Amino acid sequence: MSAANVRALLPSLDWVSDDKEREKLSKDYYWFSPLLKAALDDKRADEVVRPADRDELASVVAACAKARAPITLRGAGTGNYGQAIPLSGGVVIDLSRLNRVLAIGNGMAQVEAGCKLLDLETAVNAAGFEQRTYPSTFRMATIGGLFGGGFGGVGSINFGPIYTPGNVLSVTVLSVAEAPEYVELHGDDCLALAHAYGTNGIIVEMKIALAPLQHWNETTASFASFESAMRFGAALAAAPGIIKKQCGVFAPGFTKYMPLLKKHIVADQPYALCLIADSGEAAYRALVAQFDGVVGHWASAREAAERGRYLHEFAWNHTTMHVLRLDKSFTYLQCLLTDPVKQATALHDLLGPRVMMHFEFIRNAEGAISCGGLPVLPFESKAQIDADIATFESNGAYVMNPHVFEVEEGNSRQIDPKQVAAKLRFDPLGLLNPGKLKGWDTRS
Ligand SMILES: Cc1cc2nc3c(=O)[nH]c(=O)nc-3n(C[C@H](O)[C@H](O)[C@H](O)COP(=O)(O)OP(=O)(O)OC[C@H]3O[C@@H](n4cnc5c(N)ncnc54)[C@H](O)[C@@H]3O)c2cc1C
Repeated sequence: MSAANVRALLPSLDWVSDDKEREKLSKDYYWFSPLLKAALDDKRADEVVRPADRDELASVVAACAKARAPITLRGAGTGNYGQAIPLSGGVVIDLSRLNRVLAIGNGMAQVEAGCKLLDLETAVNAAGFEQRTYPSTFRMATIGGLFGGGFGGVGSINFGPIYTPGNVLSVTVLSVAEAPEYVELHGDDCLALAHAYGTNGIIVEMKIALAPLQHWNETTASFASFESAMRFGAALAAAPGIIKKQCGVFAPGFTKYMPLLKKHIVADQPYALCLIADSGEAAYRALVAQFDGVVGHWASAREAAERGRYLHEFAWNHTTMHVLRLDKSFTYLQCLLTDPVKQATALHDLLGPRVMMHFEFIRNAEGAISCGGLPVLPFESKAQIDADIATFESNGAYVMNPHVFEVEEGNSRQIDPKQVAAKLRFDPLGLLNPGKLKGWDTRS
């Protein structure tokens, strides 16, 4: 039996018939990497379905299991790394209709996996809370996609990645079997499904911890040197009295690709983009001055959002998108720094301005101040990418290579036995996103 048989068995479901739409729903933002573009351009699903509820989801999963048809899960398809691209055809299950916010209370929210982060934020804001962390794609991305393929972003300076213990409290998983079952996992047991690219279980519902709602201000500050900008960022990240939600540090080259931002930055100077609570304004301004910086912009984030603008859309991996929009010859790397000021400054001195440096201050899952890096660089060849990765690594950076599509290769490069064990439990037939979890393919 094939994916077409699955469709024939369940004709009343919302199947995508338009060929172009099917192609679109088989793809994500893999094209940020020319290497992934070459490897994945011709991959696509045979069928795409949008189940309306849990029952429809279970029926299509059961039919796929009977047909032994591969399944690839899709939230909004904003992932990089080709995470949501089926390598072996089969059925893409688009979860965007399972999108209800089920309950909010006591600093927690219960939500279906296909809920868009912007819709979730609107709902929790109305109850006096906000999400602890979300990616710069939060207008489009889903909570299930963030947990299944993402890291975090805005807010990670306080709460670390989404998979930091305490951020996600429980997940409801649907197993892939001829008689699929819903299973609830709690605490650390959930983490085996984090960043597993939907290879080891279908996340249907999540319970997440929230933060108290604050009024945020978007602000920019320019600095005479990259080192001073990094020193400022490290000091802000560590300042316990200044309530913040975001601090990214950028090489001056980026403003060429972001005309809207240009007017807020001193020409040709490195800069920081931050979100600061009202109470932190005076201390933030004093900290910028302490590092000989200049505040260029300070405005209510709520008012900016009402106008449809978010400062974070100039940060995180939106930087790569802005650059690629004007010049397709660029690509990017992703890395983590453990000694941000020293490592970032050394890398900037060695590789800049060819490599445009960009680092976001975060806490890691253990609570230490760290930096996520999203440097943008011209693409020359795989050899050049490998050489740049080697330079980052020899300066202490931990590179999460965004030019590969396997879970392990793009992350720790280690097989995680917990991820493989979860796949054995929830996908014993090996139908979920086949070819992405190396630990499964090599389990013997
Ligand atoms: C411009 C740009 C900026 C970005 N910035 C950030 C950032 O700041 N931080 C960050 O972390 N990421 C970032 N990303 C990557 C991506 O947007 C996020 O990871 C986002 O949370 C993915 O959500 P999604 O709904 O689009 O997931 P998708 O792309 O649809 O899915 C991601 C992965 O999760 C799996 N998946 C989806 N839903 C489920 C489910 N219910 N159960 C199990 N598995 C599932 C999919 O199969 C896929 O492997 C960025 C990407 C772009 C293009």
